[in-house]
Amino acid sequence: MARKPQDFKTPVHNNWCPGCGDFGILNAVQMALAELDLEPHRVVIFSGIGCSGKTPHYINTYGIHTLHGRVLPYATGAKLANPDLTVIAVGGDGDGLGIGAGHFVNAGRRNLDITYILHNNGVYGLTKGQASPTLKLGVQTKSLPQPNINQGVNPLFLALAAGYTFIARSYAYDTRHLVTIIKQAIAHNGSAFIDVLQPCPTYNDINTREWYSGEDRKDPQTGRAIPRVYKVEEQGYDPLIKPGMSDAEIAAKLTRFIEKALEWGERIPLGILLKNETVPSYEERILERIPFYRETPPARQRISDAQGRPTLDLAKLLEELKVT
Ligand code: SF4
Repeated sequence: MARKPQDFKTPVHNNWCPGCGDFGILNAVQMALAELDLEPHRVVIFSGIGCSGKTPHYINTYGIHTLHGRVLPYATGAKLANPDLTVIAVGGDGDGLGIGAGHFVNAGRRNLDITYILHNNGVYGLTKGQASPTLKLGVQTKSLPQPNINQGVNPLFLALAAGYTFIARSYAYDTRHLVTIIKQAIAHNGSAFIDVLQPCPTYNDINTREWYSGEDRKDPQTGRAIPRVYKVEEQGYDPLIKPGMSDAEIAAKLTRFIEKALEWGERIPLGILLKNETVPSYEERILERIPFYRETPPARQRISDAQGRPTLDLAKLLEELKVT
């Protein structure tokens, strides 16, 4: 029997602010898991610290609310231990690109088969709206005494430089679009990164729902909003880099990616911006060294006998490692 989004909901009380973009992301994850018909016990969701950190509490799968900035090491460990799991990491831009920036880079280098969803709202919402890493230079949200003095990080560029092989952007209030992106990210064999524009109506009064949808700049003739967000797939954008492509073809793809990653303000692209199928996944690299990894990953190895005694003699191992 096909699963429904309802199957992935929990009775835990949700205390996000009314109108928060986190609701759209939560609904999209639940819808994507249902549409992929994944078994809840084969999915694990990790979160960092921040408003989005509560996400695993609301989804009926395995889940761990981890430490600040450490969501990707947890996700990495789980996937390595049990490659049969669908592993999803979620976190805010402060969590992932501030204190967790080093882990963000190294997760991209590995190209492990996990999905990382960034709740990108430009503020540290949980701690009252300080400027977070993606807030642009000179922007002053309502909780800042002065305009932001730092340059904003571009998550798309950072993901490209780190080595993520699936890089996309979506919008928290376009749930249908986000569901499509999450499903493709999960299906991708490698590290998938989704930068989700997530309005924080409580602390970011600049990048609001009205701003993204262009309600603040209506066409004087028609009275219609002129949206800032648009979908690259509707323009025939092709993100795929595949084996056999020439260097010139790959360079052309990367140039198009850079053009899209630079767009902000007047026009903001959404969609899959890069899908690189030429890089081996981490699992494929492990299999070259440990051919039996798939049959006996760490999660399936016996660590004790029927009496509960450890099967590995650590004393013997330590003796072998002793430097004399
Ligand atoms: Fe959402 Fe902002 Fe409220 Fe946090 S502070 S729950 S990000 S609206």
